[in-house]
Amino acid sequence: MKRGILLLWAVAVVAASAWAQGTGYPITLVPPGKGPYEFPQGYQIPWDKIDMVVTEKLAANLYSLHGSVGLDPAHPDGAGGRVAVLFGPDGVLMVDTEDPQLAAKTLDAIRTFTNGPIKIVVNSHIHSDHTGGNAFFAKQGAVIYSQENLREEMVNPPYGSKPDAAGVPVSTYRYGSAGVAPGTPAVTIHMNGETVDFIPMMPSHTAGDTIVRFNKANVIYIEDFYRNFGYPFADHANGGSIKGMIEAVDLIQKLAGPDTTLIPGHGTLVTKKDLLGYRTMLVDILGKVQKLRDGGKSLNEVLAANLTAPYDATTLGDTQQSKDRFITEVYDEVKDFPPVVDGKRTMPRRVVPAR
Ligand SMILES: [Zn+2]
Repeated sequence: MKRGILLLWAVAVVAASAWAQGTGYPITLVPPGKGPYEFPQGYQIPWDKIDMVVTEKLAANLYSLHGSVGLDPAHPDGAGGRVAVLFGPDGVLMVDTEDPQLAAKTLDAIRTFTNGPIKIVVNSHIHSDHTGGNAFFAKQGAVIYSQENLREEMVNPPYGSKPDAAGVPVSTYRYGSAGVAPGTPAVTIHMNGETVDFIPMMPSHTAGDTIVRFNKANVIYIEDFYRNFGYPFADHANGGSIKGMIEAVDLIQKLAGPDTTLIPGHGTLVTKKDLLGYRTMLVDILGKVQKLRDGGKSLNEVLAANLTAPYDATTLGDTQQSKDRFITEVYDEVKDFPPVVDGKRTMPRRVVPAR
């Protein structure tokens, strides 16, 4: 009798936790930091102090990893760029490879849950916090995939130095091929019972963006065209654009279901409805900057107008640098917005960013 009650109790506990979490996923183990953060002048990132840990479980065989909170001034909410890892008997598929200084720690973190061979890496975009570990993981045996534009950005960088040639993607695809609708997967990988689509994006965060859809888990890694820590960042030097980010948000509205988990490269997990407020802000700021610029205002005058003020209270990480970068990009875009040629726009080159 006692045993029967215990068993019933155990069943009830399991049922309650399953109910509380729906399918049980996503499970956030370590939430991103919220700040505010301050770093003294001349601060150097203490790479040796940064840990790579599993921060979210998206499915039984799909985890996401991120670096420690509060140590990386570019991303104090979680050091580096988030890495998604699909694992199982067929080996490991990774989305992005972190900063070069964190690559070995990323592998160590992966080895806490799988011993499978590292087979495939797909890069969501060029920035070093997403591709810096490429050469390291290529040496583990990974074949690296990306948009052709990303490969081009890596081989002929518009700023910074060329990375290790071993980390240059070897399998590439394009956005905007004739007759191919936006949102169409360029590559589909069947692995570990999952179907993974690499979907090239329009020039948005950069001109070489890819989102990665895990169909069975109902998860899309949406990289950095959306962020919920700091103001939007379109890397003009690498062909990104704020207007392209609006197109990217609109495409996600079509590709994602209401319950699809979206993984930004930084910040918290979201669903597609969370992107709508971001879209509204982009449209609002574009309209206001357009009006001021049409009225002959200089960049300094537009920056002084403090157009982001209505959003500051609800934007985490709203530093002056993050605001000014955003407004400067919009200011440049509202005057001369070039057409897409070969999946790329030749954008104004005023802003030389860090990640
Ligand atoms: Zn980025």
